[in-house]
Amino acid sequence: MTTAADPPHAAPTATSGTPDVAAAVSAARSVQPAWDALGFAGRRKALQGWCALILRRSDELVDLIRAETGKTADDARLEVILAAHHLRWTAAHAARVLGPRRVSAGLLMFHHAVTVAHRPLGVVGVIGPWNYPAFIPVGPVSAALAGGNTVVLKPSELTPRTGEWLAATLAEVTGGIRVLHVVTGDGTAGEALCRAAVDKISFTGSSATARRVMAACADRLTPVVIEGGGKDAMIVAADADLDAAADAAVWAAMTNAGQTCVGLERVYAVDTVADRFLDLVTERAAALRVGDGPDADLGRIVLPRQLDVIAAQVRDALSRGARAVLGGPQSITPPYVAPIVLADVPEDAAAVTEETFGPVLVVNRVTSVAEAVERANASDYGLGASVFTRDRGSGRGVAARLRAGMVSVNAVIAFAGMPAVPFGGVGDSGFGRVHGPDGLREFTRTQAITSQRFRPPVQPTSFRRRPGTMPTLVRLVRTLYGR
Ligand code: NAD
Repeated sequence: MTTAADPPHAAPTATSGTPDVAAAVSAARSVQPAWDALGFAGRRKALQGWCALILRRSDELVDLIRAETGKTADDARLEVILAAHHLRWTAAHAARVLGPRRVSAGLLMFHHAVTVAHRPLGVVGVIGPWNYPAFIPVGPVSAALAGGNTVVLKPSELTPRTGEWLAATLAEVTGGIRVLHVVTGDGTAGEALCRAAVDKISFTGSSATARRVMAACADRLTPVVIEGGGKDAMIVAADADLDAAADAAVWAAMTNAGQTCVGLERVYAVDTVADRFLDLVTERAAALRVGDGPDADLGRIVLPRQLDVIAAQVRDALSRGARAVLGGPQSITPPYVAPIVLADVPEDAAAVTEETFGPVLVVNRVTSVAEAVERANASDYGLGASVFTRDRGSGRGVAARLRAGMVSVNAVIAFAGMPAVPFGGVGDSGFGRVHGPDGLREFTRTQAITSQRFRPPVQPTSFRRRPGTMPTLVRLVRTLYGR
């Protein structure tokens, strides 16, 4: 296990083999009953302690994230702040969301008292990506832990030490008891975790890998939460505050060098404002600095093969008539990609249909917001989206028509900074939710307990019922619901 004293640039730890994965799951299972027995209050204290420790040592975590991903300092700091923000909320709200609650038994069964509670599943496997190696895993890890589960985390092979740092710091506040275990390695370790004796898998990564994860989980019928890729769209209405929309679009498309699942990749701007919007976007994007210097706005592209995807999509779009408004293939100087803005890209080009995962923004013009909604929805993905209009009411109406898990009006990616808000997508973007009450319930089994308070005068669920019981029941139901 990594200790805080290890230098952040040390080589990744060795890959865990299948036996290591089994051992980690077994170790996690052995401490789960004791962790569950702490109750919500005990777990809350531990998780809040973890949050405080992460914040006290945040410089260390920022350095580690930067060493493993090449992020800018601000991107790494924002990630740590978000992780702490979500962790704190999860710890504080688990008892309210998951604790037993009274439920009405209904008129027919009024002689029962009912409680519904959310019990832990046992051991949860969390498979994470490299793009937000602290923030993303902390969501499912903290929700699973708050609910009384223990966790085995398989961080991305590109960011193993960030995962290990998280586990090591948590162990410090749990008196050395490991409720979060880490197994390292590539897809082989991930698949071994899917096939291990875990009670649920939370997967965050590409939609292609998600399909393999589900196939591996099918053998044991292990349930999964899938947080897959995205192709988020922004709609810019004719009455939008263009300055604000352009500022938001550039940040959402270029932050983390475009390597954000809910990053902005497509804009549909209404004709009358499209040119002005493009000018503003171009001006802002052109001013961004790329590199590993302290003042850089965009760091490197982490996955070398992604550079080929980005280059292929840009070339394909241009060869099919798109306009390079800013940059182009020449903007790709490995490992960096400077901002690229493309306009009038054919809707069936890969730059519009497939995830780019780089600082490339497609801006297409539409005749109306209705057409923008249609185009935004014509995607296999459905993760996040945004709408810019001065009429907030109509913005919410447009948002409701978008096939996306989360939509921001007059902002971008706002939902990610709100710990009470469920996060997840539809279609190729996945299913299930992390964050918020839905995210907490995701790692529990719902249990209803009914307890009969007294014997009712009419007892239909007995072979010893009286001859008049069923006619009485039929009369009652007709009276209640028959009109
Ligand atoms: P990836 O799919 O390559 O890998 C994700 C994780 O899965 C890694 O830990 C990897 O080792 C593991 N893995 C690979 N093959 C596996 C297998 N057969 N079985 C089990 N696990 C396996 O994704 P990535 O490149 O690390 O991350 C980028 C992708 O993640 C993008 O598509 C991005 O949109 C997506 N993402 C989604 C969200 C979200 O919340 N929806 C958040 C962040 C990233």
